[in-house]
Amino acid sequence: AVKRYAAIRNEPALTLCGTRVALTMNAGLMADLPSLESSGAEGVGLFRTELQFLVRTKVPRRSELAQLYARVIDAAQGKRVVFRTLDIGSDKVLPYMKRREEPNPALGWRAIRVGLDRPGVMRMQIQALIRAANGRPLTLMFPFVAQLDEFRTAREHVLGELEREERLGRVLPEKVEIGAMLETPSMAFAPRQFYEEADFISIGGNDLKQFFFAADRENEHVRRRYDTLNVSFLTLLEQIVKRCEDTGTPLSFCGEDAGRPVEALCFAAIGLRALSMRPASIGPVKNMLRKSDLTEARAVIDAARASGAQSVRPAVMDWLRRRGE
Ligand code: PEP
Ligand code: MG
Repeated sequence: AVKRYAAIRNEPALTLCGTRVALTMNAGLMADLPSLESSGAEGVGLFRTELQFLVRTKVPRRSELAQLYARVIDAAQGKRVVFRTLDIGSDKVLPYMKRREEPNPALGWRAIRVGLDRPGVMRMQIQALIRAANGRPLTLMFPFVAQLDEFRTAREHVLGELEREERLGRVLPEKVEIGAMLETPSMAFAPRQFYEEADFISIGGNDLKQFFFAADRENEHVRRRYDTLNVSFLTLLEQIVKRCEDTGTPLSFCGEDAGRPVEALCFAAIGLRALSMRPASIGPVKNMLRKSDLTEARAVIDAARASGAQSVRPAVMDWLRRRGE
């Protein structure tokens, strides 16, 4: 796929109507880093830090993590890297961490909940990130925020660690952005302050969709039952886009659906301007966007909605076919 789209690798994702969409890649392992160059990604929109923890037999040391993160920032050569703090629990279980038996792990003690209840590892990770940045910009975000005070407390931890590192005489990052993942429906309806206080928001579509439709993303019987282009889900996304526009909060979408050309086109049509996906998807998504007029796509979506369609997919597919694809 990378070869096939080589001709547009260094071209921007610019639509026919002149809208620029930022395409970044998802990563998590050192093996992903060469894709930064080969995929044409504009940066790393989601670095899943738990993958480094999952491939080990014990909790990595802070110095080891700082080295790994520094290598990631080096490889990005000035492009932005969004480090997501540990997202463990649910489907991602660390063999060396005591875990509780939970009847519904996806709704359980996971991600930021673990980080806030046992801040030791989270703070160690934040220290490692600050050291890795070593004077360069640092971007981090917290997974699975479900209410405002969770984000506020996590943010306080970052500010506390920055102070501590400064006291220890270390070089602070040139700039620090602290963002939140929006992957529980509650945050679409959060107080305006959430949108104001987050430096940026990234929609975790995989989880957001699973909780919105109450359909386990791991369960083969139900996981394909609800279309991402279902009108209800698109309307939820659109509301998040509007709220971010109102507060001037940069917004991106980093779930797997961002890497599907038709979905990506619809997301752009309802106002998303940054999508993060697996590296191999960047070419196909960029190709789709460069051949599309978002105003037209938007009109197709709105007409499908007005007609009472359950999903806008049939109408969009039909439009693409008529366009000659
Ligand atoms: C998501 O939920 O969409 C997401 C990007 O995070 P993960 O797939 O790691 O849960
Ligand atoms: Mg998630």
